[in-house]
Amino acid sequence: MNPFADLHCHSTCSDGTCSPEEILDLAVQKGLKGISITDHDSTSAYEGLFEKAAARNLEVITGVEFSCSHKNVSVHILGYNFDLDAAPLIELVSRHKKRREERNLAILEKLAFKSMPISPEEMTAQGSKTIGRPHIALAMVKKGYVANLQEAFKKYLAEGKPCYAPGKTVSVEETIAILQASGGKAVIAHPHLLNSPKTLQDLLKMPFNGIECYYANFPAERNKRWIDLAARKGWLETGGSDFHGSIKPTLYYGASFVDEARFRLLQQKS
Ligand code: AMP
Ligand code: ZN
Ligand code: FE
Ligand code: FE
Repeated sequence: MNPFADLHCHSTCSDGTCSPEEILDLAVQKGLKGISITDHDSTSAYEGLFEKAAARNLEVITGVEFSCSHKNVSVHILGYNFDLDAAPLIELVSRHKKRREERNLAILEKLAFKSMPISPEEMTAQGSKTIGRPHIALAMVKKGYVANLQEAFKKYLAEGKPCYAPGKTVSVEETIAILQASGGKAVIAHPHLLNSPKTLQDLLKMPFNGIECYYANFPAERNKRWIDLAARKGWLETGGSDFHGSIKPTLYYGASFVDEARFRLLQQKS
């Protein structure tokens, strides 16, 4: 497959460390022709992005990675090619903003209870527009509560650990409906990471448009199952690195990608 676009990455608008413009430059450096930035629950990377992309001869497909929940299991859904000014999409983004504010404070409360106080200002110190657990984990490292980010997640912040809080979750079904009502497509993110066969079984019955078959720096053997599944379901194949910059140093931009044919299919209006 000829690399055309890496369809999954995070900028400083969520928990990545590169600005949207720096990501455009990375795409050019990698010789890619298309781009989608998929920040967690946020589309602010797209402010002024189209002009900057056009100046670099890059084609843009709008993107986002929504946090959802299915029967208390966390599920990520990638949204693509939606209208940035569609009312249902704007409403969902603002609902997530509120959810994050509430649940981030709930996490800080749990940490304080475990004698690891972090102030809201320490949490937001990295200046990101969408604050998530990685920002809290970084503050924990900075204050010496844990040695590194992995330890913060493993001991406290990961799903099911004592300082995890999901907040007011949004269902997978509603997220799919909102993306499609906003002119977009809903795609199962990194099915490779789902370790609940029951959740997968349920997701396969839902009206997705696609599935992320090519993921991060995973070898071809690990993608095959999802490529076969996409064919069986008649779903679009997407792919991307899930690049986060220096916060996840083992992942490089462009580690996974799609070719032009797959990019064009995603770009079509349904
Ligand atoms: P949030 O959006 O606030 O729920 O945080 C989710 C993000 O935290 C993911 O996209 C990853 O970037 C990061 N993350 C989740 N689990 C881990 C982990 N075990 N180790 C390091 N980072 C993680
Ligand atoms: Zn992330
Ligand atoms: Fe994800
Ligand atoms: Fe991601």
